[in-house]
Amino acid sequence: MNVDLSHLRKDFPIFERRIGDHPNHFLDSAASSQKPIQVLEAMDRFARTNYANVHRGAYRLSVEATEAYEAARRRAASFIDASSPDEVVLCRGATTALNMVAHGWGGEHLRPGDRILLTLMEHHANVVPWQMVARRTGARLDHVPLTDEYHLDLEALERMLDDDVKVVAVTGMSNVLGTIPPIDRVVEAAHSVGAVTVVDGAQLVPHLGVNVRTLGADFVAFSAHKMLGPTGIGVLWGKMERLEEMEPFEGGGEMISDVQLHHATWAAIPHRFEAGTPPIIEAVGLTAALDYLDEVGMDNVAAHDRELTAYALSRLAEIPDVTVYGPPTVEGRGGVISFTLGDVHPHDLATILDERGVSVRAGHHCAKPLMRNLGVPATARASFYLYNTLEDVDALVDGLERAAALFGT
Ligand code: PMP
Repeated sequence: MNVDLSHLRKDFPIFERRIGDHPNHFLDSAASSQKPIQVLEAMDRFARTNYANVHRGAYRLSVEATEAYEAARRRAASFIDASSPDEVVLCRGATTALNMVAHGWGGEHLRPGDRILLTLMEHHANVVPWQMVARRTGARLDHVPLTDEYHLDLEALERMLDDDVKVVAVTGMSNVLGTIPPIDRVVEAAHSVGAVTVVDGAQLVPHLGVNVRTLGADFVAFSAHKMLGPTGIGVLWGKMERLEEMEPFEGGGEMISDVQLHHATWAAIPHRFEAGTPPIIEAVGLTAALDYLDEVGMDNVAAHDRELTAYALSRLAEIPDVTVYGPPTVEGRGGVISFTLGDVHPHDLATILDERGVSVRAGHHCAKPLMRNLGVPATARASFYLYNTLEDVDALVDGLERAAALFGT
């Protein structure tokens, strides 16, 4: 299905800005997405007319702010089809959400000899918290390998599962390879040995959406800033029975029922996981971002990503010396394309592309274990979102051809 979303570009003020003499070919949405005017205006309007701290005041502004904050929770719940808004914990972003699960669930339930299964393609946000918890609890980490075509090796996963595996934590879409593992099969296999499943949805949710009820996982984490919303807010969704098994990771105001001199009791779920003043204006931005995405339709967002990815893969294949690290076709992958050009350093590539208005990221993309496995210290990475066009891909390819000529690859 081809969908034309080019009319949406006008909603994004950043595209009025030129980069030097060139149009703004922004190809770094996997790091953070641009924001439509609807999100910017919703936050601005709220800050000007309704702002106050939440959950404390009996006065009108605070009641309104509390209602707006809780509306964001309900909106996030409906976006992912959660059974109840109480299953939605609002937090700083995917990193905080994954730390909450690792420390709050893992720290409580893991014992020496237990195993935590990760994959080789995890972002550091789904690696380091588990390393910390493994060190604290005596649990062991193992990593599911990839196939030669950069898909998750499901057979290896099944072989690695046994009764000692208590957690399987996997990315919903790799921020380096674009790989989209079949989460339903991962969840089914993990649940067959009684393991809890954690999905790092930082890339998956913005691009394909997610229905947490059909997905079947126990926890899903994602960030608003990668899906048209502001920085500083994200979601940890958990099944209610799992959230009930989780200890708060942070203590402070708002998360308590009572505080004595020597102990405290917790507020109800989800508030016990939201210590301190929450991101209130950002919650309003999250609501507006999810409204915008639903208006466009996540099926259309996914189809548009697929079209751009297919086009980019075929155009990149025309350039000798380009190596793409990721599945070779759009099957089982999303719109994140990592590549190298001969032995040109990815930072040099990014600089040359920038001179033509093309923004790509270069580096290890917070996935050092994966980069070591790929045998490269760094790649350049182009990533797409609903405002990108075929012209953006053409500008990328033109820039790479120029770099190839310059460096004589
Ligand atoms: N997981 C993946 C796959 C990501 O791409 C990112 C962001 N680069 C994160 C986790 C962390 O997200 P955040 O920085 O918003 O907490």
